[in-house]
Amino acid sequence: MDTPAKERNTKQKRLILDCMKSSGRHMNVEEIYGIIKKHDEKISIATVYRNLRMLEQQGVVKKLYMAEDSPSFYEFNDNGEHTHHHLVCSRCGAIIDFEEDLLESLEKTIEEKKGFKIKDHRVVFYGLCRECREAEK
Ligand SMILES: [Zn+2]
Ligand SMILES: [Zn+2]
Ligand SMILES: [Zn+2]
Repeated sequence: MDTPAKERNTKQKRLILDCMKSSGRHMNVEEIYGIIKKHDEKISIATVYRNLRMLEQQGVVKKLYMAEDSPSFYEFNDNGEHTHHHLVCSRCGAIIDFEEDLLESLEKTIEEKKGFKIKDHRVVFYGLCRECREAEK
């Protein structure tokens, strides 16, 4: 007998969450799908997308802000807070966390100069990672 849809859904969500939690890094949907498929061979990539969107709404998973033509990356985010920025290597595609948010002073300057109260910001830094720079030498 088939598992009821609701139960199956909960199970899929948990699988996705566990996979992201244990990897502890940024994953694109293809990667997540590849891992989940080993546990649930009937799952489709559309289902993975749908579950990720739900988890994002619940604030336990965060979608990374990236260029529009880049694949969607997600990361586990249990407190739902804005804690770090991303450095993206344009050569190897590595996504590196930069833990400090030093943009508060910029926000303050903008507020002072423009009277604009900033509630959030989205920033992504593109460049070359250390490994790629080493390889270039
Ligand atoms: Zn690189
Ligand atoms: Zn991150
Ligand atoms: Zn920030």
